[in-house]
Amino acid sequence: MDPMNQRPPTRLVDACNRHLNYLRVSITDRCNLACGYCLPEEAVPRLAHAAILRYEEILRIVRVAVRLGITKVRVTGGEPLVRRGVCDFLAELAAVPGLRDISLTTNGVLLTETVERIRSAGVTRLNVSLDTLRPERYRAITGRDFFGRVWEGILAAESLGFQPIKLNAVVLHGVNDDELIDLARLCWDHPFHVRFIEFMPIGRSHFAGKPTLLAPEIMRRIAALGTLIPVPRSEHDGPARRFRIEGARGEIGFISAISRHFCDRCNRLRLTANGQLRPCLMSDCQEDLKGPMRSGCSDDDLAEIFFKTIQCKPSDHHLSVGEPAHVCCQMRSIGG
Ligand code: SAM
Repeated sequence: MDPMNQRPPTRLVDACNRHLNYLRVSITDRCNLACGYCLPEEAVPRLAHAAILRYEEILRIVRVAVRLGITKVRVTGGEPLVRRGVCDFLAELAAVPGLRDISLTTNGVLLTETVERIRSAGVTRLNVSLDTLRPERYRAITGRDFFGRVWEGILAAESLGFQPIKLNAVVLHGVNDDELIDLARLCWDHPFHVRFIEFMPIGRSHFAGKPTLLAPEIMRRIAALGTLIPVPRSEHDGPARRFRIEGARGEIGFISAISRHFCDRCNRLRLTANGQLRPCLMSDCQEDLKGPMRSGCSDDDLAEIFFKTIQCKPSDHHLSVGEPAHVCCQMRSIGG
């Protein structure tokens, strides 16, 4: 309750006065790739089907969230495109009144066959994970020989006019850091936003404990292509710092969760595939929405759970070099 007027709050504003208007929704913990930096060393049991939120449950949560000020939803996973019915779900999501921005994060493996339906569902913004341009290396990183399919899917999305198409590359020291320039050069030939992501030591991946290449060094290397000119932030910008380089059609971005925290302007909540609402990627604080919902709670009860969740949003995630995130979940189950 607001102590000044005793009326319940209507908007998601946390104790640090951050306005939370962005919900990332993981619709599955399944993935058709096995990226070494995302997967733990040991096998992790998959969620039972019954434990995963049904689409109508997700839509109900989103409607409540919109009432509380959420205007932007990103659908992620696991790999969202492996879940049956995802394109129909995206169309229903796009029809939720009050949602202004719907985007999708995918590894692109199933993009060629779904991209037209994704577009006609109303999604215009696409993030595709692409850590390398070398097919044999793609196989080494992801465990699958799908580079050609992914690239074909990205080009199909470009020809359908998705704008922007963001290509996300997690930079892994000694694995793909010799390709930074080649990846960045993509935005000369295409209007892509190429974004370099610092590896986050979350969960127990094969890369935990290995040296991390940080954004300042990545930027130093990219600057060999030209001066990085900052792009002013816009309403729906995420944590990436954006730059353009003279002559390039697209942009370059850096997501520096380790070297330059962006917690003070974090506007995100995350809904996991099994219905947990998390206020921070790096914290295990979460509230269950699925249980109450399946026990017949009202929309107002769900709204209360949102307010309870934001109370435990940490002011900072405290992640730093050599200091892994102490969270029980894997990236795959939270959705990145
Ligand atoms: N399957 C989809 C995909 O590949 O884009 C969505 C889920 S994936 C977990 C979301 C993003 O998280 C991907 O861009 C992936 O590269 C990134 N990611 C996974 N593990 C990471 C880590 N340890 N550090 C930084 N980014 C990571």
